[in-house]
Amino acid sequence: MNQIEDIQKEFQIDKEKLDYADIKEKYLGKQGLLTIALQEIRNIPDEQRAEYGKKVNDLKNEILETQNVEQQKTYSNKERIDPTAPFDINTKGEKRNRISLISKGAVHPITKEVETLVEIFKGMGFDVLESRQIDDDYHMFESVNFPKGHPARDMYDTFLTEDGYVLPAHTSTMQNRALKLFGPPPIAVVLPGRCFRNEATDAGHEHTFHQIEGVYVDKDISLGNMLATIKTYLEAYLEKELEVKVQPAYFPFTEPDCEFVISCPFCDKAGCKTCGYSGWIEIMGCGMIHPNVLREGGIDPDIYTGFAWGFGVDRLTMIKKGIKDIRHLRDSNLNFLEQF
Ligand SMILES: [Zn+2]
Repeated sequence: MNQIEDIQKEFQIDKEKLDYADIKEKYLGKQGLLTIALQEIRNIPDEQRAEYGKKVNDLKNEILETQNVEQQKTYSNKERIDPTAPFDINTKGEKRNRISLISKGAVHPITKEVETLVEIFKGMGFDVLESRQIDDDYHMFESVNFPKGHPARDMYDTFLTEDGYVLPAHTSTMQNRALKLFGPPPIAVVLPGRCFRNEATDAGHEHTFHQIEGVYVDKDISLGNMLATIKTYLEAYLEKELEVKVQPAYFPFTEPDCEFVISCPFCDKAGCKTCGYSGWIEIMGCGMIHPNVLREGGIDPDIYTGFAWGFGVDRLTMIKKGIKDIRHLRDSNLNFLEQF
């Protein structure tokens, strides 16, 4: 009896240290401790034999049980998969995110930024009208003061369809519609949409990009209103106080025409790679709406004035997120998209 209890104690120590194969050999092998103990049963007095046999059997079962425990450990170390589970359950970390991105889908970073910006404009009281992806010459050019043969048409290398339609090169293609639809003033509307230009692509240029146009018309509107409006939404979007200035520019649909410039949000004018070490970033074209454009939209320029702007969402997103190459925003690379 004492011998069984000694074996039992030894096994308790061994099962923490030895793997199953060694335990089996040591206790249940031909010369195993328990094998020998079992042979001893014939020397046990009758009245103790049943109890002795039970103890030996219990210990044997306990030893055999260590095999199951060990197998379970091995499986869990190997990250055993459950083939009946939804398949992203069987993957971990980055891989799991990727599979759930593919299977569930996600909003594209540019769409997300357009939505963020539109929410800011809505909060400022602007209406929203989405731009078109195909339009006619009148809306793209003539209605915004690019008469036929006007040299400014050469500023845009546009895509044309065989039957003479044009893929808008700017969201200004919506200005005339916005003036007619939301007039008479006051008019405050933003016009988000895709634009297309026949350009060679590089880190800073794409053939397809997003713009948000803004149109604001009322009595007594001045350049001061424009500067304050643009500064307010840029600060809301970039979550930073900015210094702003305007530089002269040329656009047919505004008079005067301005290039809106902000202090670099990364270096606070100290100079860095993003701002080309100038401390300033040219962010968009803007200006007071040309009287011809107001007139063409059915608004009397002797009574009303207004301003307009158009900025690239891709470029603004690149500045906010520190993205170095505009082409990342179109090439569907999951390694890039997963970061948003
Ligand atoms: Zn900078």
